[in-house]
Amino acid sequence: MAASTLTTIGFDADDTLWQNEQFFRMTEDRFVALLGEHGEAADISGRLLDAEKRNLGFYGFGIKGFVLSMIETAIEITKGQVPAAVIAEILAAGREMAAHPVETLPHVHETLEALSGDYRLVLITKGDLFDQERKLAQSGLGDFFHAVEIVSDKKASTYDRIFARHGDGAGRAMMVGNSLKSDVLPALEAGAWAVHVPHALTWVLEHAEEPAGHGRFIKLMNLGGLAESVRKIG
Ligand SMILES: [Mg+2]
Repeated sequence: MAASTLTTIGFDADDTLWQNEQFFRMTEDRFVALLGEHGEAADISGRLLDAEKRNLGFYGFGIKGFVLSMIETAIEITKGQVPAAVIAEILAAGREMAAHPVETLPHVHETLEALSGDYRLVLITKGDLFDQERKLAQSGLGDFFHAVEIVSDKKASTYDRIFARHGDGAGRAMMVGNSLKSDVLPALEAGAWAVHVPHALTWVLEHAEEPAGHGRFIKLMNLGGLAESVRKIG
């Protein structure tokens, strides 16, 4: 067997290792219901998404930015008349998101366990630092990882830097995640292998075209097939 072609495997966290997007969707439904008398559901959701896009550059990814975007949208939709009680409900919804129990996805534990002896595993995630640290601690998966990188964005240069720091460069690394836009395309661009594990719920801003036919692109229905795919590479 060719010795260690692949030495380092990066894992996305949200909706790859554990559920995340479902909590955003549930909170958005609650938000839309709160403002129900001020507009149509589709319009409120659309305005919220616009606010999130506008605010990414100010607050980054995660719950805190989402809460601020909900407040901003509530002010906008009510033309400045939103009652303080509604703002209080939005803040409470945000705190509930930040306290939800961590629910790991199928095959995660045994896959990390199977790979962690032979490969350096690195957790690479966006989102709020505090929230991601909490979820990692509660998941009980922390010991499988050689390193944890909580980053503000995932670009090719991000993967270059992380795989150089914790491994043998992107050329001997793999990135595994549910987002084509953040986990797959930039990792391929950096020269790594990339494994797409789709999740039924993926934020619209994470959608992208699948790089079908790329020699280092692998698609799996769940993490259950990952160890075998990895060992085929060597
Ligand atoms: Mg994800």
